[in-house]
Amino acid sequence: MKYRVLLPACLAVLLSHTVIADPAAVDGKAIAAADQGGDWRSYGRSYSEQRYSPLKQINANNVGALKLDWYLDMPDSRALNATPLVVDGVMYFTASQSVVMAVDARTGALLWRYDPQVIKRLSNRKNMRFNWGSNRGVAFWKGSVFVATFDGRLIALDAKKGKEQWSVQTFDLDEPRYITGAPRVFNDKVIIGHGGAESGAVRGYVTAYDTATGKQQWRTYTVPGNPRDGFESQALREAAGTWRGDWWEHGGGGTVWNAITYDPLYNRVYLGTGNGAPWNQQVRSPGGGDNLFLCSILALDADTGEYVWHYQTTPGENWDYNSAMDIVLAELEWEGKPRNVILHAPKNGFFYVVDREDGRLLGAEKFGKVTWAERVDMKTGRPVETAEARDPDGVSVVFPGFLGAHNWHPMSYNPQTGLTYIPYQEMAAEYDQRGIDTERWRAKDFQMNTGFAPYRRDVAAEDATGALLAWDVRRQKPAWKVDLPGFWNGGTMTSAGNLVFQGTSGGALHAYSADTGRVLWSFDVGVGVSAPPITYAVDGRQYIALLAGWGGVSYVGSTAMAHHGWTYGSQPRRLLVFSLEGTAKPPPTVPPQTELAIVDNPDQAIDVGQAQVG
Ligand code: CA
Repeated sequence: MKYRVLLPACLAVLLSHTVIADPAAVDGKAIAAADQGGDWRSYGRSYSEQRYSPLKQINANNVGALKLDWYLDMPDSRALNATPLVVDGVMYFTASQSVVMAVDARTGALLWRYDPQVIKRLSNRKNMRFNWGSNRGVAFWKGSVFVATFDGRLIALDAKKGKEQWSVQTFDLDEPRYITGAPRVFNDKVIIGHGGAESGAVRGYVTAYDTATGKQQWRTYTVPGNPRDGFESQALREAAGTWRGDWWEHGGGGTVWNAITYDPLYNRVYLGTGNGAPWNQQVRSPGGGDNLFLCSILALDADTGEYVWHYQTTPGENWDYNSAMDIVLAELEWEGKPRNVILHAPKNGFFYVVDREDGRLLGAEKFGKVTWAERVDMKTGRPVETAEARDPDGVSVVFPGFLGAHNWHPMSYNPQTGLTYIPYQEMAAEYDQRGIDTERWRAKDFQMNTGFAPYRRDVAAEDATGALLAWDVRRQKPAWKVDLPGFWNGGTMTSAGNLVFQGTSGGALHAYSADTGRVLWSFDVGVGVSAPPITYAVDGRQYIALLAGWGGVSYVGSTAMAHHGWTYGSQPRRLLVFSLEGTAKPPPTVPPQTELAIVDNPDQAIDVGQAQVG
């Protein structure tokens, strides 16, 4: 199905600033629409998750005049990772600790604030406190706002008042699982997964609930459990044949902590499944095996949650190479034929193009420095591993490391340029097998569990680099690349104004020309950025919005992470909104605290940090 623009383009642009959906009418058709008026209705804007906006009042010719329009300080927040939604002139977003806020999208005036009291609920789970800052946003459906909280609740709120409509617990509070991700909504169902493949013996699943009542509709596990308990499906029975040993004792992993994409064309849900629990395959599945459905795109029937197809990016995963990075839908011409495809750039460093109909691999090329595999064999769809990829007795050092060539920071796809804008990063990691008793190893709940020896090496700032990479999807190679001074930069957004926006870990917000990568505008945000920007329009004015507050990882054991100098309580966390007519005075801030002692206890610091990589 294609969403054709039925009106002449000029008329559509005029109408886009006046015709805004009734919030109660925001349904699947409204979220699927390429033209959403001035709204941004879903995490990736539309079901395509392209983060591409047809708005072009702000464009490559005038973006140099972009000014701050309004801002909102959030003194209680630490990391701000959310993609705000805008429906009918109201902006909905999550701050730290899963707090939901609704503000007037023209002024920032607070309409309501909902605090799910996560800290109170988790007072006994002290080991999980470090990660409370992170939440990537809400979902909107027929007048309700849905938030998934760190402690595993899925909550429906009345969009007008922020009043709780229902709340369900999606996992047992004793289990070492947590949620940082945004729910997605389709067909009166709201779906959510969770993280935790490092924090204990966790077996991943997603659950779909009825949007009106919170009643569970279906739950699908991503890896097989103990065969003696019986398998939930034929797909999991067959998947069990790709595991060895007593994998269920370790949970297996495969958590769905980020990527969930609904495809209205096939009425399917695509899950980006997580890494193994633990990472070390010699512990998890001694003797090898593909370990399905770890590190895969897993396609499910949206009505029933039943298996349809899968494509595994990293068989026999051993490096935390989860496929939890965003899954983008596009229609493009591939080898002379129009195709409905998935675009996916997971941690392992390959850019995949997959046919949505049957999961067939169409393309897989390295988008950065990759030393664990030579290439992907297009006949088998499998990576060809290098000799240094695994060392069953010693230390293996490979690119990318466990933070990935691309992490959760969303990429965006511009159908006009045919380019995907990837927050790229480059850093190696070592996987140390020495001294590990693979038979006796067991996970400890709420601690960092990799199955490898503890990571002790500091990563110098110069050993971890970042870039904004424009990847030409059809030619399967970079179109342009802008090197950035730091690692762990923010997600991207692109628009019909031939623009790409990205915030950086160094505290800048840049606008680039989408076709050439030329820097057209920059703003000193005053704090590092992790969240992706959005764009929207109200009353004829187009805005760019960004949540500024670095986080989503605190890999503080490395100089690479600490050298930016962003500290909690120093630089204000803010929502910043820009327009061509803005007159707000940029707020004061505090310079980065680069002279701070980086780390006193490296082991403790790493424990805190790695668990947040997902
Ligand atoms: Ca992970």
